Amino acid sequence: MSKPDDFLKFTRQTAPRQQVEERLAHYREIYLDIAEEELLNQASRCMECGVPFCHNFGCPLGNLTPECNELVSQGRWREALAFLHSTNNFPEITGRVCPAICETACALAVNDEAVAIRQTELAIVEKGFQKGWIVPFLPKVNTGKKIAVIGSGPAGLAAAQQLRRVGHEVTVFEKADRPGGILRYGIPDFKLEKWVLDRRLEQMRAEGVWFEVNCEAGVDMSATFLLKRFDAICICIGAWEPRDLPIPGRELDGIHFAMDYLIQQNQRNAGKNIPDEISISAKGKQVIIVGGGDTGNDCLGTALRQGAASVTQMEILPCPPEGENPTTPWPLWPQILRTSSSHEEGGERLWSVCTTSFNGSDGKVQGLNVVKVEWGSPDENGNRDMKILEGSDFELRADLVLLSMGFVHPVHPGLLESLGLAFDKRSNVAVDSEMMTSLPGVFAAGDAATGASLVVRAIAAGRYLAYQVDRYLMGESMLPALPPI
Ligand SMILES: Cc1cc2nc3c(=O)[nH]c(=O)nc-3n(C[C@H](O)[C@H](O)[C@H](O)COP(=O)(O)OP(=O)(O)OC[C@H]3O[C@@H](n4cnc5c(N)ncnc54)[C@H](O)[C@@H]3O)c2cc1C
Repeated sequence: MSKPDDFLKFTRQTAPRQQVEERLAHYREIYLDIAEEELLNQASRCMECGVPFCHNFGCPLGNLTPECNELVSQGRWREALAFLHSTNNFPEITGRVCPAICETACALAVNDEAVAIRQTELAIVEKGFQKGWIVPFLPKVNTGKKIAVIGSGPAGLAAAQQLRRVGHEVTVFEKADRPGGILRYGIPDFKLEKWVLDRRLEQMRAEGVWFEVNCEAGVDMSATFLLKRFDAICICIGAWEPRDLPIPGRELDGIHFAMDYLIQQNQRNAGKNIPDEISISAKGKQVIIVGGGDTGNDCLGTALRQGAASVTQMEILPCPPEGENPTTPWPLWPQILRTSSSHEEGGERLWSVCTTSFNGSDGKVQGLNVVKVEWGSPDENGNRDMKILEGSDFELRADLVLLSMGFVHPVHPGLLESLGLAFDKRSNVAVDSEMMTSLPGVFAAGDAATGASLVVRAIAAGRYLAYQVDRYLMGESMLPALPPI
């Protein structure tokens, strides 16, 4: 450790965000620069714990956080970059969108503010790109093995890059018009500008990864073709089956799944024209977002930028406590009230409310009929009973309703059904401890196998998948073998 008491000298500082009025006028990222000297000070707050919970408990990738912080505090950026890339293919993405589970597991967070780990990660990788240190990493051998990666989200991209770097021929098939999965079509540009993704894809192409877009495996290309043509298949198709709200009035116009709405704005930002007849816009509308999670927050920030007249985000669960929650002590991820950058920008939040029906006229939604609910204490499995409060019903006006209640599992029709794969209890693709599905040579990782989760977990799963596929094809593997947590 350069100076063991730096955490007493420096308080946590993170990059400031633009003023709300300024950022609502565009879809670009909202963080301002932070001075290099401050970045060094922040890294030096790390205590280099003997047992670093940030690394072995908090980070699914096992990022070597204390080592990276120590190197940055000494200005040794290039070595820090090597450490960072040894566990994470895409730190420029996790450095922007990861909820930073590592920070809640930081030992400083026991009674102080955590080390700004995510910010340091982003600074290291951006320094690497700026200095030209990040170049294609060409394989030294060619194994002649052919691998199909289906789906180009973070799991598929991480698997593809790892497998190509040990010499396999890798083709990524993507049903959308551009690679990236939810990073491209889902996460708003104000959290992740898409040039960030394109810059990394350019490196992958230069390394020899092939991308076939506008190609839905199982539909545009049969499962039989895939099985005959490739030595191994990696299914990384995400978990895109949305949770619906099948209540009276669901068929009314103006009620949409969150992803249909978010994808359109990503496409507009990328210069695509969305025809009026299918365009979903919040401009001038009273918007209700059903669901208080991260996807709902992304809808909120998007609706405010589109010029919504009002936005209300509803959540069926009660409002979690602010600051601390004794049921999730350190180093667990705390179940506390979180205020995202979108919440800073506007809108209203309602807790412990449940929609019973939609109402409307001329086939168009005009409102939601809502009741208040009360939650009992959790039983031994953590489940709680929900009770509707009698006489608590009220109406919320709405011209646009965005359903953002999560995803139930991967889409089954098409690829998964034509391969005849087995599913687990939650209808995700069932895999064994070696990431293989019920069909030999067919592997799965990311949200498709775990259910909807996080970018960092998808990258970790893709890396582990690559190790298992390489071992299956070659008998052994030099790739890192860290099972995702
Ligand atoms: C709106 C939204 C915002 C989010 N924000 C965050 C965040 O800020 N931070 C965070 O950590 N996580 C976030 N998440 C979660 C995170 O994005 C996912 O956990 C992650 O992207 C999963 O990666 P994946 O590679 O498994 O699948 P995905 O990213 O879902 O990618 C799957 C890809 O497979 C393609 N595909 C599907 N079927 C086929 C087929 N048959 N043939 C070819 N291609 C196919 C899809 O088109 C898609 O491109 C967010 C999720 C959503 C929905």
